[in-house]
Amino acid sequence: MKTLVMKFGGASVATPEHFSTVADIILRRRQSHQRLVAVVSAMGDATDDLIALAKRVNPDPPRREYDMLVSVGERISISLLAMALAAKECDAISFTGSQSGIITSNQHSSAAIIDVKPRRLLTALEGGKVVIVAGFQGVSSDGEITTLGRGGSDTTAVALGIALGAERVEFYKDVLGVYDCDPHHSPAARLLPQLSYQEAIDIAGRSGQILHLRCLRLAERNKMPLWVRSFREIEGERQEGSWIMDSAVDSYASMPKYEEVG
Ligand code: ASP
Ligand code: MG
Repeated sequence: MKTLVMKFGGASVATPEHFSTVADIILRRRQSHQRLVAVVSAMGDATDDLIALAKRVNPDPPRREYDMLVSVGERISISLLAMALAAKECDAISFTGSQSGIITSNQHSSAAIIDVKPRRLLTALEGGKVVIVAGFQGVSSDGEITTLGRGGSDTTAVALGIALGAERVEFYKDVLGVYDCDPHHSPAARLLPQLSYQEAIDIAGRSGQILHLRCLRLAERNKMPLWVRSFREIEGERQEGSWIMDSAVDSYASMPKYEEVG
């Protein structure tokens, strides 16, 4: 059975109305893929707002409590997306990072994924449900809630794609795909239909746009194809977006499977 991981960034769930659009994108994919996992970020500026809130109470909050607070942003998104899918008669269930078996180091606010044990996700997928996972967060081996660092939901999506043997990970963004330079700043930016992991890593390092370096390195090491596209123009699936994949066949077998160490 074909498994697909779809990642929805903060811009794609910026308002309550956005959840219905995202639910429609998921339902369209349901026609071709029986096993769907959606990884979701916090709504719009929700993470920034939570960090500002913490700072008003304590300018230097304890890192454990910081993670406890900022992980809430994604929890709001996953439950709302499950509700939006339920409103369209789709059987969906949301899980936090901890419930999804995203095991991390104990480095609060910049934890590294060290293992993925998606037992509950597999049971839900086998039961025919659409699975929705909170990005950006996990649980340490001591049972503490951790977060992966800003922009960490991309890494959650790739790690889950690897753990579930997904055929690819799709990223739904507020741009049409990956450009040779940042399209928000230079109007001459060119959309790249296909690029290698190394090209994507170079662009991410240079302009900071699109995907996290961590997630690109993880995808490269595990040869997970990535498809970056816009959440806006989905009618008729005309938009091509950008594919990030490698045709090289050298082996990465000796590398650690999940984490971005080394
Ligand atoms: N919500 C988190 C952030 O804004 C994680 C993410 O969006 O990937 O950094
Ligand atoms: Mg965000």
